[in-house]
Amino acid sequence: MAYFAVIGLGRFGTTTSLELMHLGNEVLGIDIDPKAAEPLAERLSQTIIADATDERALKELNLGNCDGIVVAIGEDLQASLLCTLNLLNLGIRCLWVKAGDSAHHSILSKLGVRNIVHPEEEMGIRVAQSLNYPMVNSY
Ligand code: ATP
Repeated sequence: MAYFAVIGLGRFGTTTSLELMHLGNEVLGIDIDPKAAEPLAERLSQTIIADATDERALKELNLGNCDGIVVAIGEDLQASLLCTLNLLNLGIRCLWVKAGDSAHHSILSKLGVRNIVHPEEEMGIRVAQSLNYPMVNSY
């Protein structure tokens, strides 16, 4: 069993955190908005309402113990970058960050983030491949 944190509990962050739970892991969910965090309170190991752009708040969460952290803030470029920078400053390296567009991707890449996720584009490719190779069901 591993321990993960998911920051930003929109559709992508919620799905990722619930699947990590389903796979038998412990998951800490973090969101600035109580309306996003509260529905998951009983479904994740722990949920916390916090602003991930606040380095001190992140430091208090001892995220250094995590086996991996997902930053699932896609729309708010500034919040995503500040949160990512805070995590890098805390020495966290196993990061997966959702990018909203190519500018977002470029900056994350310059910051040294190796795992940058584009859910819509990646799903579009998988759907196209499933249509092109209908006999392959593993997608
Ligand atoms: P979706 O996965 O639903 O498509 P999205 O890519 O549109 O999401 P946002 O809606 O911008 O991304 O953010 C996802 C979640 O991140 C929201 O629940 C939002 O409240 C949360 N969030 C935004 N800013 C912060 C922050 N500074 N700290 C913590 N959580 C935040």
